Amino acid sequence: MSIKAKAAITNGIGAFSIQEVLVGNPAKDEVLIAIKASGICHTDYDSMKWGKPLILGHEGAGVVIEAGNDVDGLAAGDHVLLNWAMPCGHCFQCEQGNHSICENFSPVTGAKGLHGVSAGHPEFTSTTFQGKGIERSFNLGTLSSLTIVRKEAVIKMPMDIPFPSACIMGCGVMTGYGSATNVAKVSRGSSVAVLGAGGVGLNVIQGCRIAGADKIIALDVSVTRLALSKQFGATDVILVGQEPGGMDKAFNDVKELTHGRGADFAFECTGRPALGAAPLALVRNAGMAVQVSGIEEEITIDMNLFEWDKIYLNPLYGKCNPMVDFPILFNLYKQGDLLLDELVSKTYGLEDLGSVFDDMLKGNIAKGVILF
Ligand SMILES: [Zn+2]
Ligand SMILES: [Zn+2]
Repeated sequence: MSIKAKAAITNGIGAFSIQEVLVGNPAKDEVLIAIKASGICHTDYDSMKWGKPLILGHEGAGVVIEAGNDVDGLAAGDHVLLNWAMPCGHCFQCEQGNHSICENFSPVTGAKGLHGVSAGHPEFTSTTFQGKGIERSFNLGTLSSLTIVRKEAVIKMPMDIPFPSACIMGCGVMTGYGSATNVAKVSRGSSVAVLGAGGVGLNVIQGCRIAGADKIIALDVSVTRLALSKQFGATDVILVGQEPGGMDKAFNDVKELTHGRGADFAFECTGRPALGAAPLALVRNAGMAVQVSGIEEEITIDMNLFEWDKIYLNPLYGKCNPMVDFPILFNLYKQGDLLLDELVSKTYGLEDLGSVFDDMLKGNIAKGVILF
């Protein structure tokens, strides 16, 4: 039996439309979900140019409609968060603890890199559009009123977390928080510089606050974002001037705030290729620079920036181990330590997807969420 659903479908060459799709029955290791909220990020916008039709969306929360026979611990009515980096649990990387780069299920660890993301596995054909199977972004396709996903993508969550706040955990929140806690392992009492206080940077900032960092310096070109960064835990803010030399001045300001040494940890969260090496300039000798925003372009780096003994990492998805990390995030939210509601600037209907993209590209919102 197939059920009708409403979905945002891209043609793969830059456009999308709202269409009717048919969703079949979940296989034995799959779960049928009614999506209640789906967050939008730059990847959704980029995914409209991946050269093939697909159902958009990779940040979703909803309610279980039906779980396949081999799915343990999930039943109709459960509230769930969807997670796009699903670990298989038994490949080389999963056994090394690198769950976010699982060799079997990760949509982004192939030689093609992030922009060549494999949107779907061929076995996922239970969703059809105009009589043919259609792929779903990151094997989720959360911009659809119904979706079928592998059981590994489903995290059961407490009933009292609102869907709009929950859905954003499965992308920018995990990326930012995990980059601070799982990747850098920011230590109590340490100093941190965060370049870019947008959706991901704010989550790095609150991850560092939760980890007990003493000094958290936010750098941005926007006064509004810097004000928000204080709410998330920044202890100092630096407005980066856009004139020539503005960045160098900001680097010096960070040094002054860190005993003339540079920060213990620095995170780049701007997505601007020209700033790919910037976290190296913000850390002290033997400090750790983390490039969070997924820059893949070719850039030139002055090797002096590595001197001395610095570590540079570009983690995927905050090294997320979903079964460990999401329960922690749920608890942190319930205790009031992890801010989520404050990140959702605006909610929209599915038919307003174009407006979300506009607001996001203009930098008007920290995070837009589609409600179903
Ligand atoms: Zn995302
Ligand atoms: Zn694996």
